Amino acid sequence: MGLSFSYNRVDQETVSLLKSAIGKNNVSSDEEKLLSYSHDEVPSSAYEGTHMAELLVFPETAGHVSEIMKIASAKRIPVTPRGAGTGLSGGALPAFGGIVMSFEKMNRIIELDEKNLTITVEPGVVTSEISKMAAAHDLLYAGDPCSGDASFIGGNIAENAGGNKVVKYGATGAQVLALEVVLADGTITWFGGKRRKDVTGLDFTHLMAGSEGTLAIITKAVLKLLPLPRHSADLLAAFPDPETAIAFVPQIIKKGGIVPASIEFMDQKALSLAEKYLNYPVPAGEAGAALIIQLEGNDPEILEKEYEKIGNLSKENGAYEVYVADTRTTKERIWQVRKAIPEATSFFYSRYTKEDLVVPTDRVPDLLGKIRDICSAANLEWVTYGHAGDGNMHCTVIGPPADNWHEVLRGVQEKIYSAVIEMGGTLSGEHGIGFKRKSDMKLFLDRKQIELIKRVKLAFDPDNILNPGKMVEWDQ
Ligand SMILES: Cc1cc2nc3c(=O)[nH]c(=O)nc-3n(C[C@H](O)[C@H](O)[C@H](O)COP(=O)(O)OP(=O)(O)OC[C@H]3O[C@@H](n4cnc5c(N)ncnc54)[C@H](O)[C@@H]3O)c2cc1C
Repeated sequence: MGLSFSYNRVDQETVSLLKSAIGKNNVSSDEEKLLSYSHDEVPSSAYEGTHMAELLVFPETAGHVSEIMKIASAKRIPVTPRGAGTGLSGGALPAFGGIVMSFEKMNRIIELDEKNLTITVEPGVVTSEISKMAAAHDLLYAGDPCSGDASFIGGNIAENAGGNKVVKYGATGAQVLALEVVLADGTITWFGGKRRKDVTGLDFTHLMAGSEGTLAIITKAVLKLLPLPRHSADLLAAFPDPETAIAFVPQIIKKGGIVPASIEFMDQKALSLAEKYLNYPVPAGEAGAALIIQLEGNDPEILEKEYEKIGNLSKENGAYEVYVADTRTTKERIWQVRKAIPEATSFFYSRYTKEDLVVPTDRVPDLLGKIRDICSAANLEWVTYGHAGDGNMHCTVIGPPADNWHEVLRGVQEKIYSAVIEMGGTLSGEHGIGFKRKSDMKLFLDRKQIELIKRVKLAFDPDNILNPGKMVEWDQ
């Protein structure tokens, strides 16, 4: 299904219409701002060409979003929704210029409903603020991406962000009960409701999760809350090598009889990069690999028995040291290491490809072996860390200093992708396709599947004005 779309540029009339619809303070064409709202956390060296917003809009209500979409749709101007810009796939990049719509002014927590155990929020609320508000009411919001102190909930839903607690609670989409959305033509509607079951029609609510701002704009979200576990403990198990660490992961659930809230993996390179970045000796900094295992419970004595059991099991399965963190400070020390890795990689290297691979959990050891063999053969350094409990590995391959580093990395990437496909894995577990991975979709999905994505997109957005240039290539 090869199609092409043409767009108009933002002209003075459009600017005037937008200013009178949403207020002149909510519209900006300031050059510096345009630049900083025209990328996410993917380094611009990853892309060819410039992708600059022509205009920024800062809606304050769903009504504003609707007005913006009516104008954009009548004038055929592309609109790129933008959260906090922490995305790792170029999702918020204005691929065809046009309008970038930021949700930073739609940042209210509207309601916490203790009877239905829900929290209703606007898309610009920072994820960790939702967790804090829930915790203040002894409740848990289980979405927990590592970027939670910066990313917005709208961005999390649009990417179906994963993070640290997916093994027990599922990704962001699993926390969503209902969404208010604005469609490409400006219609405001609701998908889902404050209800735990719903098979009335198609599940549009969860179609939105991971739709990357290409189908509709999220203007409110009703999220599920759970009782807050009263106690938790984090174990940091140090292993001599990645293979031993990763082979232990399935045993934690099966032999331990417990589903931990998190099972995170870090290889030696990841640990030493985090140590260098944080600039102090980190626990297990010298290990060949380490796992963070987070356990939760309401009874401290039961929790203690559980972490002793998992600690002993770790040692029986090759860990040579297990650190237990059960105070706020010791827990923070452990998680700081894990959370520092992506930033440390971007800080110390400018030429790299950051992958978001997923394989069935029993194939993670094979994946790590393949990555090692492929990168060693190409004489390249690599870092692997990620959500071991979900089979989701963030493998970062560091580019060589040579001029043809793009080409070299591409060759390595293609070999890694073939191995992932052979293992029944896929391209992205949580960072999304966006602009960065769209040309690789055809390696992982067949023609029919890509055509279906396009048909669904056109059913929602016939002129392809919502975040165009993402997820799929239209000219094929
Ligand atoms: C240090 C670091 C750690 C990270 N850790 C994790 C992690 O553990 N797990 C994980 O999954 N990701 C992680 N990420 C990636 C990123 O934080 C997530 O993808 C996050 O969900 C993006 O949210 P955002 O608000 O920054 O969205 P943006 O990057 O601004 O946008 C992301 C996408 O959402 C769309 N969008 C934004 N708002 C809306 C809306 N209201 N309606 C419709 N579409 C919208 C945009 O168009 C874009 O396609 C990490 C990133 C960094 C930099």
